[in-house]
Amino acid sequence: GKVDHECDMLVLGAGPGGYSAAFRSADLGMNTIIVERYATLGGVCLNVGCIPSKALLHTAAIMDEVKAMVAHGISYGAPKIEIDKLRAHKETVIGKLTGGLAGMAKARKVKTVRGIGRFLDAYHVEVEVTEGDSKKTNGQKEVIRFQKAIIAAGSQAVMLPFLPKDPRIVDSTGALKLEKVPKRMLVIGGGIIGLEMATVYSTLGSKIDIAEMLDGLMAGADRDLEKVWEKVNAPRFDNIMLKTRASKAEAKPDGIHVTFEGEKAPATPQVYDLVLVAVGRTPNGKKLDADKAGVAVDERGFIPVDKQLRTNVSHIFAIGDLVGQPMLAHKAVHEAHVAAEVAAGHKAFFDAKQIPSVAYTDPEVAWAGLTEEQCKAQGIAYEKGLFPWAASGRAIANGRDEGFTKLLFDKETHRIIGGGIVGTHAGDLIGEVCLAIEMGADAVDIGKTIHPHPTLGESVGMAAEVAHGTCTDLP
Ligand code: FAD
Repeated sequence: GKVDHECDMLVLGAGPGGYSAAFRSADLGMNTIIVERYATLGGVCLNVGCIPSKALLHTAAIMDEVKAMVAHGISYGAPKIEIDKLRAHKETVIGKLTGGLAGMAKARKVKTVRGIGRFLDAYHVEVEVTEGDSKKTNGQKEVIRFQKAIIAAGSQAVMLPFLPKDPRIVDSTGALKLEKVPKRMLVIGGGIIGLEMATVYSTLGSKIDIAEMLDGLMAGADRDLEKVWEKVNAPRFDNIMLKTRASKAEAKPDGIHVTFEGEKAPATPQVYDLVLVAVGRTPNGKKLDADKAGVAVDERGFIPVDKQLRTNVSHIFAIGDLVGQPMLAHKAVHEAHVAAEVAAGHKAFFDAKQIPSVAYTDPEVAWAGLTEEQCKAQGIAYEKGLFPWAASGRAIANGRDEGFTKLLFDKETHRIIGGGIVGTHAGDLIGEVCLAIEMGADAVDIGKTIHPHPTLGESVGMAAEVAHGTCTDLP
């Protein structure tokens, strides 16, 4: 058959996994092509994920802070929200970053072929060229022959089958479009993505209900962290319905009428102007004709890989959301580097001791390494150092002392095995905990490290001192 392009390395998908893999491959001397169905590089993370959500959360955090200044004797008028400008600001942020990626690709001579890629066999991909939006094909097809490939096709939001098709029922991508501020909004799913979007919309003025099937929000985080978040956020939301699921929805002119089942289910259907479905994401593995290349895909759509990110076909790798949990950008990027290096003949492998998680809500919740829940479930003996921010000068000065910093150490070696932080800037603070875990630091290493005063970061050193029994900042 005809071949339009040839390359050493083909990368399928241009999210954080894909562009990182392509750039590293090119830096290692491979002639690299990246296939992406969207017009811009950056994937979910830059276009409809991490970055736009954080742009909006930043605005929301400042609005909340300004409001809180009343207690310090400073008051401003009620905010005037120009939603078109806010949306434009978010688009500018995305544009800066995706434009930057295009420049970095060009500098490395990474070629982008725009369209939907599918495998023809273990050495060829066919691309159905797209124009405008990601699904609009122009009938043109291009065939790429490759020596090696990295599959980075990512994931997409799960929709609940019983929900009608209606513009007022959206996934996170729809919610990030920020078309208007609904009066009443329902968030189905109390995980990180749902809670982040709920934070943005509530600050902008929506009245919000949250429905979660499990018996707690923010699954994966230790309950003590989540409890602090919930206490601060209870007044923000109308009704947090745990152990409750939305079971039926009807689109009517006055709104979406939703019926609930479960412990906290309201007796009658509730009416909403916007329903956000944030119940998880599903990998795109089944849409790539991977079987034609001999690449195994499991029944859920994940592609199994080894520690070198190789699929069962040894010259084809897979990375990112597509290979499993946690579905996070930083995991995708690190896997990408390993896959590119292995493809280039290096003896690299993915051996992370920890992958951090952060909810960029208010307060932020961040954790890394083992949680207490995991230690208990796995029978790991640990000692804990917990430093309450009520004893942190900086947190008190900030008027935000509700949080705490918690470190977990192996009972025998006293080396750190995990940590969690709830409070403002927790996501930035957890980086030190990540490094400590990777370096195998013990409580003395962390506690005797001089941290700048007065900072929130001191709380990490102090939590280590608590675990070691040498903390002088607590009664
Ligand atoms: P993706 O980013 O999903 O990229 C895959 C790319 O492949 C897409 O561009 C897609 O168009 C393309 N593609 C798929 N199939 C084909 C095909 N057949 N042909 C051509 N192209 C194809 N993670 C964090 O770490 N921090 C956060 O704060 C964070 N916030 C998030 C907020 C939201 C609202 C969402 C939805 C996600 C968030 N995530 C966050 C998760 C993060 O976005 C993902 O983990 C990350 O984007 C995964 O990267 P990836 O490269 O595996 O795939």
